[in-house]
Amino acid sequence: MSDCIFCKIVKGEIPAKKVYEDDKVIAFNDISPQSPIHILVIPKNHISSANDINDENKEIIGHIFSVISNIAKSEGIADKGYRIVNNCGEDGGQTVSHIHFHILGGRQLQWPPG
Ligand code: 5GP
Ligand code: ZN
Repeated sequence: MSDCIFCKIVKGEIPAKKVYEDDKVIAFNDISPQSPIHILVIPKNHISSANDINDENKEIIGHIFSVISNIAKSEGIADKGYRIVNNCGEDGGQTVSHIHFHILGGRQLQWPPG
């Protein structure tokens, strides 16, 4: 997807502060952090949203959650806790159409969200 900002981050065309990378995913700091730790984890292959997870690509989700678990430990938020968020579609508040998982931590988070 040539006009996708997260694909551009994957390709290095837009800078991002990466905290993790492997052959399938990258994780980087959110440009507008909502908590002391706010990291986005994305697949390198373009998947638009949770609506596009299927039998062919579903393994990436398990890999992303394994990466999230490791990042939470390396960022020092695993013990106190954190939140994993995936916004899907307009009502879900998704603003970037490349599936991503927010890791939010480092402060007490409120529930429910608005
Ligand atoms: P969404 O609202 O789609 O769930 O989350 C998109 C997230 O991407 C937002 O938290 C927003 O701050 C972040 N974001 C948007 N553009 C950029 C960018 O160019 N670089 C980085 N690092 N984060 C971005
Ligand atoms: Zn993309």
